[in-house]
Amino acid sequence: MSVVVQQSEPKKATARRRGLRTYLIALILVAVLPAVGAAGMSVWRAATAYRDASATRLLDTARTLARSVENELEGSAAILTTLATAPGPVRLDPGSATDDHKPAGKARGKSAASPAHQPDRGEKSDELPIWLDRLGGRLQGNIQLHTVSDLRAQAARSLPDGMLETALRDHRPTLSNLFVDHASQMPRVALAVPRSTAGAPPGQVLALVVPPQQLVRTLQTSPSQHSSLLVAVTDGTGHVVARTHEPERFVGRPVPDWAKLQALQADSGIFEAITTDGKPVIFGFQKLRGTPGWVVVAGESLELFNARWQQPLMAVAGGGTLALALALGLAAWLARTVLRPVQALAEHAQRLASDEGEDGRAPPPVAPSTIEEFESLRRSLATSEAVLRSRAAALAAGQRRYRRLAEAGALVLWRGDAACAVVAATGWQELTGQPNEDASGARWVRLVHPADQPQLIELREQLAAGGRLIDLECRVRTAQGLWRWVRMRGAPVADARGRIEEWVGVVEDIDERRQAQARIAHLAHHDAMTGLVNRMQFRECLDAAILRAGRGEQGAVLCLDLDRFKEVNDTLGHSVGDKLLCMVADRLRALVRETDTVARLGGDEFAIQQSNVNQPADAMQLAVRVVAELSAPYEINGEQAVIGASVGIVMVDGRDIDADGLLQNADLALYRAKEEGRGRCSFFDPNMNARMQARREMELSLRRAVIDQEFELHYQPLMDVRSLAVNGFEALLRWRRPGGGLLMPEAFLARAEDLGVIVPIGEWVLCEACAQATTWPAGLRVSVNLSAAQLRHRGLFAAVQRALAASGLPASSLELEITERALLERSDEILETLHRLRGLGVQITMGDFGTGHWSLGLLRSFPFNKVKIDRSFVRDLGLRKDGDAIVRGVSSLCDSLGLATSAEGVETAAQLQLLSAELCAEAQGFLFSEALPAVEIPALLATLQALAAARGRPSGIRA
Ligand code: C2E
Repeated sequence: MSVVVQQSEPKKATARRRGLRTYLIALILVAVLPAVGAAGMSVWRAATAYRDASATRLLDTARTLARSVENELEGSAAILTTLATAPGPVRLDPGSATDDHKPAGKARGKSAASPAHQPDRGEKSDELPIWLDRLGGRLQGNIQLHTVSDLRAQAARSLPDGMLETALRDHRPTLSNLFVDHASQMPRVALAVPRSTAGAPPGQVLALVVPPQQLVRTLQTSPSQHSSLLVAVTDGTGHVVARTHEPERFVGRPVPDWAKLQALQADSGIFEAITTDGKPVIFGFQKLRGTPGWVVVAGESLELFNARWQQPLMAVAGGGTLALALALGLAAWLARTVLRPVQALAEHAQRLASDEGEDGRAPPPVAPSTIEEFESLRRSLATSEAVLRSRAAALAAGQRRYRRLAEAGALVLWRGDAACAVVAATGWQELTGQPNEDASGARWVRLVHPADQPQLIELREQLAAGGRLIDLECRVRTAQGLWRWVRMRGAPVADARGRIEEWVGVVEDIDERRQAQARIAHLAHHDAMTGLVNRMQFRECLDAAILRAGRGEQGAVLCLDLDRFKEVNDTLGHSVGDKLLCMVADRLRALVRETDTVARLGGDEFAIQQSNVNQPADAMQLAVRVVAELSAPYEINGEQAVIGASVGIVMVDGRDIDADGLLQNADLALYRAKEEGRGRCSFFDPNMNARMQARREMELSLRRAVIDQEFELHYQPLMDVRSLAVNGFEALLRWRRPGGGLLMPEAFLARAEDLGVIVPIGEWVLCEACAQATTWPAGLRVSVNLSAAQLRHRGLFAAVQRALAASGLPASSLELEITERALLERSDEILETLHRLRGLGVQITMGDFGTGHWSLGLLRSFPFNKVKIDRSFVRDLGLRKDGDAIVRGVSSLCDSLGLATSAEGVETAAQLQLLSAELCAEAQGFLFSEALPAVEIPALLATLQALAAARGRPSGIRA
């Protein structure tokens, strides 16, 4: 059986769910990204620092060189200023004006004046002092002296425009930008200084016009000349003044991107540019002080510059990337290490869920994990799996059992919705023969027996009131139209919040049980043999009748007892007796109405509860009919039996009485009827109670007498008819009742038999008689009477044995007298007991012979030694002819059977005379003695011995 677990989480929650892999990746990213960011930032900052350092280096180079150039220019300006301030007239070598390449020193000793700078007429040309000449040796160029008038002269055009005016106006050394010398058509630079010596005419300017590389020599000696570093000096118009690399080629040429540099509007800084040969470069620049915008630039190719800071950066970045890759790889490996057991556990759990019960095989186990928590989880899962599997196996076995039961039709498994409407029922068809669909919803209710419908209504009300249990026994109709008892049980299945989700339950087939219960109930309330209600049920009927009588509906109770039934039972046997009882029951049933009830109260006692009795005469009428009907002969097994019936009647008329009281009164009435004779009917009379009370008291007294040993024995002699010798004594029971005198057996013996106390009384008699007999002269026997109840009692033989053993009396001295009536019950057990007693040596006597339904067969089948002729026959001796004949016949019959005969109730000598003439050997009676207490026996024996001596003269006989 597969178990399907449904996802019950809301969709929203499911949508937000991510795999563990995603979370692990997120975890890695969260851990790595800040480091990567920090590393990137560091690299970026390092790169910036590298770049800034490189740029600063360039700028510093530019500044350093700028200071050198400035120093150099200042030096030149200082020399020229020195020249200009030299005292005396300036004497210039005219030839030097045309020779640009001649060093200034060569003009020493000559006047160096160009045609354009011929001194005015009013001016005096002075010669330069020697020391100045030496200083001027550094300046290889054309040193010219100009005057104010030169400003307007053409000669002054060898200088850039406005330079003289600027020098004169500012009265300080003035440097020009590059300009092309008219004469040589070469680029030149001019440095002008106003002459301000004492005695010199005003407005004179000493100007030095030189090729720019002579003025700026620093670059020629700079180490960068041979390095990758490019240094240049440009003038204020962006023309190259000096250059470390290929100056001859580039000096005088304009630099590219000059406008870009100008746009920076800074004295120093860094900027990128394109060289004249088109290569990208980066420069550090520094403007020169005291110049018309000259700039020193120091730079290198951009490629080289970038390479300088990018290479270490690339190394750092490469290292970082490698480290990152390693970290990511390691993290991925760790994530996989974590993920693998989780995935394995998840897959295992999924397989468990899907494979469970499919083929009964467990999915392969999950490999152990190196991670402690996962290993613990795996072990827990394995343990849980084992437990779940065993539970699932037990559950499956249980389900199989229930299903099998359902399939076998012994059990219906049903399921209902929250409202308890059946949605599925398995086994309904097998149980009822009706289709399973007929059980769905509330359709099954139609199949319930109408008498059980109120239970369903009650159940429905209970469930509506919140009842949570179904347990109902009812009958349902099968397909064959029969009613079958079932037990329906069910209980709700609630969710976690206690709301009923569904109902489940079973329907059991309890038909057999109910049938058995019905049978048991029937047996409990009915007599098994006749099918009539028994005493218990009859009592309930009486309770109902009493209730009805309280409402005015009068009734009657008839108790009846069968006359002579015991005789039929004893003579024809129990099976005939049983059939007779059944026939009696049938006749009674046929006599009464449906509303009446006939019961068998026990034995041959029956009762009728008659309903709707208007007057006592109605009850009497029924009683008379009952007597008449039951008295009609019965034909059983080819034999005819005739019995009668006596009926006691009590009216149920609303008087305060219960069922037992009614039965008791009906019994009293019956007792009265029987007392009146057979076939009589009597109504209950309240006076009957007094007699009954006396009987009850007798019962109680008897039971107490057994305990208190209030009994005693009197002994009557058994006389030899011919010799008048004493053969022995018959023990006769007496009850010395406290305050009641001495009671004879007739007064209590029958009641003692009824109550069963005759058995212990009889045992006492046996022991007492045997003990007493041992005190008599040897050879005397003692005769003890046995009742029918004693005879039936299984302990008789043992009781006799005990009495003999206890007294020491020889068994042959004991005679047991059994009445003919007691022997009518010819059971094998009684016969066997008597044989065993005979075997002991005990004498067996049949008493009261002739009073019962005796037969020859009775004499032959029982092991008697003697037959005692009843005193009713003895009484007729000499008075009636048939009396003599009976005694003679019995005596001769017994003689022929080898049995001795004895006569009781011999009261007269005539009777004794007649008996002696017959074959009767023994006699007892008042003629010899009445029964006397044991203490009187010795005297009696003496008297009787004297009688025997007298022989024929019954002297000493008590009257
Ligand atoms: P039963 O065995 O036939 O005893 C003889 C009865 O006849 C005695 O009556 C006795 O008193 C009486 N009887 C003796 N001679 C004469 C006579 O000449 N004329 C008249 N009219 N009666 C005479 P009892 O003692 O009242 O006993 C009555 C019956 O009670 C006995 O009849 C016997 O069946 C029974 N019975 C007495 N004692 C016992 C006993 O211990 N056990 C049992 N089961 N029955 C006993």
